[in-house]
Amino acid sequence: MTCLHGRHAEPLLFRGLTGDNWTLADYVSRGGYEQFKRILAERMPRERIIDEVRASGLRGRGGAGFPTAVKWGFMPKDHPGQMYLICNADESEPGTFKDRDILRYNPHAVIEGMLIAAYAMGITAGYIYIHGEIWAVYEQFGEAIRQAREAGLIGRDLQGSGFDFELHAFHGYGAYICGEETALLESMEGKRGQPRFKPPFPATNGLYGQPTTINNVETLAYVPFIMAMGGDAYAALGRNNCPGTKIFCLSGDVARPGNYEVPLGISFPELLELAGGMKDGLAMKAVIPGGSSSPVLPAETMMQLNMDYDSIAKAGSMLGTGGVIVLNETRCMVKALLNLSRFYWNESCGQCTPCREGTGWLVSLIERIENGQGKTEDLDLLDNVAANIMGRTICALGDAAAMPVRSFIKHFRAEFEYHIEHKRCPEASGPRE
Ligand code: NAD
Ligand code: SF4
Repeated sequence: MTCLHGRHAEPLLFRGLTGDNWTLADYVSRGGYEQFKRILAERMPRERIIDEVRASGLRGRGGAGFPTAVKWGFMPKDHPGQMYLICNADESEPGTFKDRDILRYNPHAVIEGMLIAAYAMGITAGYIYIHGEIWAVYEQFGEAIRQAREAGLIGRDLQGSGFDFELHAFHGYGAYICGEETALLESMEGKRGQPRFKPPFPATNGLYGQPTTINNVETLAYVPFIMAMGGDAYAALGRNNCPGTKIFCLSGDVARPGNYEVPLGISFPELLELAGGMKDGLAMKAVIPGGSSSPVLPAETMMQLNMDYDSIAKAGSMLGTGGVIVLNETRCMVKALLNLSRFYWNESCGQCTPCREGTGWLVSLIERIENGQGKTEDLDLLDNVAANIMGRTICALGDAAAMPVRSFIKHFRAEFEYHIEHKRCPEASGPRE
């Protein structure tokens, strides 16, 4: 884990964390659970919490960037039955590794965020769905829940306020698609993890058909900080009209890969500098700015951009999860795309034909080019197959598989053509492995 450096702003979630100071006692010594206790003691009106979150400009940090206060506002005010809050910790987007570090280093911030969110929406039952391949994190989080329960922070009539909240950890089995919120619900209900049609959205028809809010780990973990400093002050931490802070996961050909908590809207060159710049002094060729589902951008475009939702969208990509994958000048773009495409093909749940068949077709075509058997017309065929997947599937995985293909061909067509003509990488891409 790497933290923000002081000259940019003090980190919130990652401040002073060592890996050994994650317990309840440590969190309390840092002012933890004060906000939840204050809300209970003041019997704070729910709407005031939602207003504070609205003022903070907090948007879903799981990738979609949906405004958190708006999502919370969708929950019914007078539902007679059970409602649920679920923390989505099924992070598995390639290039994204922030949530597991938040859970590992600061689990009680997530629990306090869930308690405040649950209070604000009048929810009494919560789950955290933890990716199946991070078993140690799941076990440690279970211990954090036990500590909070023993301290009277989870359970019935919390702090004598009359507010009840039960929280349980649920481990998934490692399927990427179970991070899609409705597949996650199916999985929790004991069924095969396959996405449902939306609408209806979970806010009306969620877990066991009941109103459910599903928020990402990072989103919830920021809530206690927003309540402590106030929504406006949190928003002011961002740059260039972009509110708040965000954890970016830097990976690939940078000198110091890791998680960096920075103001949203920081320039990409600054973020790159925090990660030590390019490894081995090589030049940058391309960047995937928001996890593997976001379209790739050429280095020269990235170097002009700020890391915020609008700037990256205007450049034709997405801020997504903030998983920034940097590729140097020696990387073969055909091979990089093949790697991504194989991932989506493997992870497709197979429900819809365009995704199930299309992802396999994409892999076959890219493999053919990579193996020196590609034909000139394959590039248009690739683009056509990708275009025919987009917008024709139940969930976003179809688009996520198609968008990289289209962007790799758009920006690096010459490299694909070279492969087809010469049956190998251009010299600048280095030797074939
Ligand atoms: P989405 O835009 O469909 O929905 C975003 C959220 O807003 C959801 O919780 C949804 O229920 C809610 N919502 C949207 N409109 C609503 C309405 N009218 N009424 C009620 N609720 C509404 O996006 P999504 O399919 O949930 O997520 C896609 C994103 O997930 C991708 O852009 C990608 O970046 C990201 N992703 C993340 C990971 C990861 O590991 N973190 C993995 C894969 C994809
Ligand atoms: Fe399953 Fe792919 Fe359809 Fe999503 S788009 S429901 S992963 S087949």
